[in-house]
Amino acid sequence: MDERILLAHGSGGTLTHRLLREIVFPAFSNHVLDKCEDAAVVPLRGKCAFTTDSFVIQPLFFPGGDIGKLAVCGTVNDLAVMGARPAYMTAACIIEEGLRTAVFRKIVGSIAKAAKDAGVLIAGGDMKVVEKGACDKIFINTTGIGTITEGIRVSADNARPGDHVIINGTIGDHGAAVMSARKDYKLRSSIRSDCASLNGLIERLLNTVPRIRVMRDPTRGGVATTLKEIAVQSNVEITIEEDALPVTGPVRGFCEILGVDPLYMANEGKVLVFAPEEDARRVVSTMRKHALGRNAAVIGRVTRRCSSSDTPQVLLHTSIGSMRIIDMLSGEQLPRIC
Ligand code: MG
Repeated sequence: MDERILLAHGSGGTLTHRLLREIVFPAFSNHVLDKCEDAAVVPLRGKCAFTTDSFVIQPLFFPGGDIGKLAVCGTVNDLAVMGARPAYMTAACIIEEGLRTAVFRKIVGSIAKAAKDAGVLIAGGDMKVVEKGACDKIFINTTGIGTITEGIRVSADNARPGDHVIINGTIGDHGAAVMSARKDYKLRSSIRSDCASLNGLIERLLNTVPRIRVMRDPTRGGVATTLKEIAVQSNVEITIEEDALPVTGPVRGFCEILGVDPLYMANEGKVLVFAPEEDARRVVSTMRKHALGRNAAVIGRVTRRCSSSDTPQVLLHTSIGSMRIIDMLSGEQLPRIC
């Protein structure tokens, strides 16, 4: 095996087949992929959710994960927060000529492990190699599909006054981990990305509390931006409590040094859940029984429905008792975070 990926590895010829035979198929082997058809043929029943995403994170490897794990978790989570059970996904890699084969092998291994852990099959994929400088090492594009259990209806337009807003743990860990991994920051820290597939936790939640109204994963733009999206889509005002926001000591310290706000930092293993007040406690206790929900907390509630004339706002009730309007992230806090 050549030490680096060459343009010829993407030609569809003998080198492509060798790479597939030696690295890709052994990692992903399953009854759908192994048929090697032009498209995957899979059985699905009922309502389906499907989604696509691209991953261009830099650096490729960061504390708590890498681009391969992230590609799977990000795709799985977008399906899971719609109440779908992720079943199949595809992964397409665009590789810059010269990438070390060992790096590609490691990323493929990560995709395979994360898919196995989440219970999704890699049903298809693609690989292209572009000349040096045409992309940065490797970009991954995914598609995921899953089925929605009858009776489940979660949607960002479904929040109602009185609903409690719950999160399954600490915020800002992914953004801070990636930032600290960037050479230009030269910051050493113990911060790890929260990158994880949430479908197991979410399935348990929906079994326990089927009345959950909204779920969304606060990735790019963080909790602040995601809450604002939900406020607008549901036409409601949301008030969150600064004192209730779970943030680890290292992330808090990191944000203070760099002057960034954990509310706007990306997360890759978090879900915001809106549930009726009477169900909120059950949501929190169910989350806390799961490894990915140990630090679950109610962080706020939907305070009112907005009239047609006012703009739906997210308000932050600060530790010192004042109210601050929380808007979407404007501009880019950090490029290529996912
Ligand atoms: Mg999402």
